Amino acid sequence: MLRVAEHAELTDTGRQRRANEDAFLARAPLFVVADGMGGAQAGEVASATAIEVLAAGLSEGESVEAQLTASVRQANAQIHALSVADDERAGMGTTVTAAYVGESNVTLVHVGDSRCYRWRDGTLERLTDDHSLVEEMVRQGQLTPEQALEHPQRSIITRALGPEAVVEPDAQTVGAHDGDLLLLCSDGLSTMISDAQIAAVLARDEPLGATTRGLVAAANDAGGRDNITVVLLRLEVLTGATADEIEKTRVGLDVGQLPAAKASAGVAATPASVERRVPHDPRAAVVRRRRWKPGIGTVLALFVAALLLSGLFFASQAIYFVGADREGFVSVYQGVPYELPLGIKLYREDYISGINLSQLPANERTTITEHSLRSRSDADDLVRQLELGRLGSSAP
Ligand code: MG
Repeated sequence: MLRVAEHAELTDTGRQRRANEDAFLARAPLFVVADGMGGAQAGEVASATAIEVLAAGLSEGESVEAQLTASVRQANAQIHALSVADDERAGMGTTVTAAYVGESNVTLVHVGDSRCYRWRDGTLERLTDDHSLVEEMVRQGQLTPEQALEHPQRSIITRALGPEAVVEPDAQTVGAHDGDLLLLCSDGLSTMISDAQIAAVLARDEPLGATTRGLVAAANDAGGRDNITVVLLRLEVLTGATADEIEKTRVGLDVGQLPAAKASAGVAATPASVERRVPHDPRAAVVRRRRWKPGIGTVLALFVAALLLSGLFFASQAIYFVGADREGFVSVYQGVPYELPLGIKLYREDYISGINLSQLPANERTTITEHSLRSRSDADDLVRQLELGRLGSSAP
């Protein structure tokens, strides 16, 4: 099973434009970059409309490819209708590059010259073709790829959402390996720096947030002539074996045992009650300590207690639950849903989804807030269903 382990995104006006007409969507399982064009803020309207239509959910269709293509066509129709209804918006348009992370592969639908790259094992591969004048000239042998990079008309695109009533998007479905990084970007990145320069930033292997900043900084250092948008996502393949292993380690600890764990933790964390037992005469304490020799029984009891505690700790690491983070985003947590005094949490965040609690109907919200204990695959499945279901159920 495939999932988005983490993602990071950044958009920047660049050094020469006054406004940012790029827009993006980064909400698992759907990631989109749109680069708008047209005077008097029309470009912003075009790119924002594309994002809005795609964010509302996939259209009907037999496959994800068909659904996503239909949604992109719907965005085109909407932008085109807006552009003919208002002179100020005449001719506005936008690119769109969308990646949908499915259960076992990634679907890409694309129009224009924004790009999707895949970074795998230190190699950068471009997955989309530019619908641009220069790339067509390269395909026809009229320009070399090097000449295309410097061509004065390299930002002229031959396909976009908006200018025509009907558009023909490119669609493809690609496989994924564990650890694959997908990069969606507007041409403000790819016309400012070469693929080799993009690869050099990715090869630094920094956290994704730092990588997005590094890419935007490189484009700005190269002149920043256009708006720059970068969406990065790391894919993770959850194998059946991993899920089974987690299931096995979970055996032996069920929900009924948890209140005990909570109670003992509570006692340990009240030092006042322990202190009261310390004798007032310090010498008495010394004497008592010297005379105390651990018998074999005590050693055994301590050993068993240590074993139980470590067992409980390791068992808790194999437990997951689904909850919401402080901003209300549905998340998967590793551990148990308790906090010790002094703010010691018995859980840590494992995955944050793009689904906010406020978007869910009441019954689904309860499923999240009751913090039922689950295996990792259960917890992942639940969030995945919400992610897929939210998109599915809101389809027009
Ligand atoms: Mg651009």
